Amino acid sequence: MEETPEDAVKEILERLREGGLWQPHGLGLSYVKESGNQVTLTVQENTPLSAQARIRMRMLLEDVGWKVDESPCQLVEVEHLTPEQKHIKEIQMRQELAQSWKCSCGTPLSAFPLEEGSWVHEGQQEMLLPTGEKEMVEQWHVMIQCPTCDAEIPTEPYDYGLLAGDDAMLTYNTGKMIYTAVDRPDIINRIDSKLSPTMIIVGSFCPFYGDLLPPHVRGAVVTFRETKERFEEE
Ligand SMILES: [Zn+2]
Repeated sequence: MEETPEDAVKEILERLREGGLWQPHGLGLSYVKESGNQVTLTVQENTPLSAQARIRMRMLLEDVGWKVDESPCQLVEVEHLTPEQKHIKEIQMRQELAQSWKCSCGTPLSAFPLEEGSWVHEGQQEMLLPTGEKEMVEQWHVMIQCPTCDAEIPTEPYDYGLLAGDDAMLTYNTGKMIYTAVDRPDIINRIDSKLSPTMIIVGSFCPFYGDLLPPHVRGAVVTFRETKERFEEE
């Protein structure tokens, strides 16, 4: 059965975290998800295309039972940015929003001990690609824990990256081994100076204990060490 635009929108919004940003591709519209099946339109680009899209999106959203608050919407002039500048601006906007995400007890997620987050593999899910083809995609989340009320919050890997920053994506702890990605200058440095510990390139599994590695770790040049707990056991 073909997925309708209604199904697609519902699925996107249900998956989005409260306070998460949704920018339907190419429409010049930015929505933020609120509680209780509501989104807020925060930005509309000042173009006829965006103005029309805004009306269509509103009808579509209301058809699938979502309310739209358009009152805080800012009209912005289209900036002529390079794709790279656009990308940087979008990341900044998403990072700012991530600072407002909170646990149900009010503690900001950004105050969690994010470096202790553990990656959990949830299996495979069928995803519809923009080309209309379907692909099986591995699903992962990062479990983070509130330092105030101990609630465990599953977080999308992308959201986790926004909260924890790029550095958190460079190390990965399987529970037995800690891998740290090495960048190019560091690789050259290590090889030139014959520094140990040695580097390896990892595939899909931990070469020592066989644990499945999350996608962002695969294919990386890494250094490795055993976790402290492991060390103490022996
Ligand atoms: Zn909490």
